[in-house]
Amino acid sequence: MSQKQDVFIVGGGIIGLSTAVQLARKGASVTVIEQGEVGKGCSYGNAGWMTPCFALPLPMPGLFFKSLKWLLNPESPLYIKPSLDPLLLRWLSGFLLSMNEKKAQAATEALVQLSKVSLQMYEQLSLESPEIGFEKKGLLMVAQSKAGVGAAVQELEYVGQHQVPGKYLTPDEIRRMEPSLTGHLEGGVYFPQEAHAEPYLVVRALAQKARNLGVKIEEKVQLSSVQIEQGKVSAVQTTAGVKKADVFVLATGSWSTQLARDIGLSVPIMGGKGYSMIVPPLKTQPQHPLMLIEKKVAITPRFDSLRIAGTLELVNQDFSITERRVQAIIKNARQYLTLPEKLEIRETWRGLRPCTPDGVPLIGMSKRIPNLALACGHQMLGLQAGFGTGKLLSELIVDGHSDLNRPVYDPDRF
Ligand SMILES: Cc1cc2nc3c(=O)[nH]c(=O)nc-3n(C[C@H](O)[C@H](O)[C@H](O)COP(=O)(O)OP(=O)(O)OC[C@H]3O[C@@H](n4cnc5c(N)ncnc54)[C@H](O)[C@@H]3O)c2cc1C
Repeated sequence: MSQKQDVFIVGGGIIGLSTAVQLARKGASVTVIEQGEVGKGCSYGNAGWMTPCFALPLPMPGLFFKSLKWLLNPESPLYIKPSLDPLLLRWLSGFLLSMNEKKAQAATEALVQLSKVSLQMYEQLSLESPEIGFEKKGLLMVAQSKAGVGAAVQELEYVGQHQVPGKYLTPDEIRRMEPSLTGHLEGGVYFPQEAHAEPYLVVRALAQKARNLGVKIEEKVQLSSVQIEQGKVSAVQTTAGVKKADVFVLATGSWSTQLARDIGLSVPIMGGKGYSMIVPPLKTQPQHPLMLIEKKVAITPRFDSLRIAGTLELVNQDFSITERRVQAIIKNARQYLTLPEKLEIRETWRGLRPCTPDGVPLIGMSKRIPNLALACGHQMLGLQAGFGTGKLLSELIVDGHSDLNRPVYDPDRF
């Protein structure tokens, strides 16, 4: 493929911008459209974790009985509102069928690799854009029950097979390392090589980088339809007119299902709705990102505040905020940390994680529409695997191959 390829990217989240930067570096002429503002989709308020230790697909073996227990409880970490929505039914059957060891191992190998490459790239980015708040302080998983410790140790052993180092810590060791933890502790696991950053500032930094490399970014421009001629995308209709290019990329996160369906592709992505709240710094501010295992709550220390994030509720384009679930996250965080009784919540945010049934993103050129690339479905890993996704996809588009590519990413597999 010539160096002067015109590439048109739909979606200005972490995936679209990472891809734009990498493509521009490789000499392509790139345009990105974003229906809202760059970085204000799911990439805005996530926990900011860049943690290869969590590079696991959602449907891990053993989750089946736990998910049944959680299924109907609106305060549980994973919630699925009962519905006969055909997308949900199809998604759930795919999810259950993906819970097997062989699939989980192949997915983990691929996702750990992508997350490690991304981590290195973010570290590099932080040298040029220190405002992204990149810090490599590791990740501490803490448990209040024997079952929680068991789950953490199981994860330690699992990702250890993929060269992600970590170690078990006793309650005393945890308290010495993280005095902010005031609730009961049974044990935990520390992964020293993990990092975190400010997710929105990462996307902004990438957008700036992209512009510096000549990428045209058009905000408040929406893709409305795609024209297919002789099996290829000939043009796209947008709210700013008809656009032509050699290659088109769908990096539209949880919006991808309908857009793909309109051109005859099957992309069964459901939104995994999660919340994050920004609160003032605690008297004893956490020094490390913390995963509160039993409650699946993520705590991220920030420069002048604290981010508390959690829950995964499967939805189909439902962006509403359920106060009951917000309060459940805060209540759960209180069991581990001393939060003021009257807690000031500076910002409440929700985002829809783009979740595929097998927990693996779709990355690559579609075989059915050869000049269309898909880069969507990054579930809870879009930031941490995002920069690597851009590298992978730009290599596929410009060079025709990438060492990061794996069969599990096949965009035609559904
Ligand atoms: C509570 C929570 C915590 C999380 N924590 C982490 C974490 O710590 N680490 C991590 O790696 N991941 C985390 N995630 C997941 C991560 O946020 C997502 O995987 C990631 O943001 C997905 O990026 P994206 O670019 O695919 O989607 P998005 O950021 O949603 O971008 C897609 C963009 O496409 C645009 N778009 C859609 N349709 C159109 C159209 N027709 N025309 C033009 N533009 C369009 C949208 O407006 C949107 O901006 C978390 C998610 C949540 C909800």
